[in-house]
Amino acid sequence: MKNKAIILLSGGLDSTVALSYAQKHMDCDVELALTFDYGQKSAENEISASEKIAEHYEVSHKIIELPWLRDITNSSLVSGEEIPTSDFMTSDSMKSVWIPNRNGLFLNIAASFCDSYGYNYIIFGANKEEGLTFPDNTEDFRVAINKTFEFSTLLKPKVLAPLINYNKNDIVKIAVRDAVPLEYIRSCYRLGEKHCGKCESCYHLKEALLANGCQKYVDILFENED
Ligand SMILES: [Zn+2]
Repeated sequence: MKNKAIILLSGGLDSTVALSYAQKHMDCDVELALTFDYGQKSAENEISASEKIAEHYEVSHKIIELPWLRDITNSSLVSGEEIPTSDFMTSDSMKSVWIPNRNGLFLNIAASFCDSYGYNYIIFGANKEEGLTFPDNTEDFRVAINKTFEFSTLLKPKVLAPLINYNKNDIVKIAVRDAVPLEYIRSCYRLGEKHCGKCESCYHLKEALLANGCQKYVDILFENED
């Protein structure tokens, strides 16, 4: 019997491709997707994107509400503060969209599920580019949190990050190769019907789509510039 896995699914490019990658190329069955509603400005869009993606891959979908996270952090993703619009990360814009220990929190919640319901793996969409900015997207973090689960759970689930050595361009390339339904994704930090095209997450997604000849998805996902 294959190992059972949980995916942390935000509905963005990375977690969606991580889900597809795990289903197609890894020795596991991804059975459950967890999406977190922590009061982020894009929550509604992330939840509806995740629903469509989970349905496409025939994975059960559960939304976990953490409404208190906005009371204990001051990130612009959850506060009244404006989300920075820039195509490169400065230490100020990085701090502005940083939610301390967010991935640690989500992975620990997933580990509790694993221990109760017999899942062996947690699939996590960390990638090389974000690892350069956010320490909780690195291979060192993945190894360290796996070590803690050896003490905090009985089943000792393992976090797997299939995209950790890839940058955005590589990830879009994999998505195209594996026919990932990119029309469903939502990577923008802001609220709005379509991707704003102006936040840091949008810049990188758009660039990677164009580099891979995916103008069609730019037209579908992004607001018209004129
Ligand atoms: Zn955006």
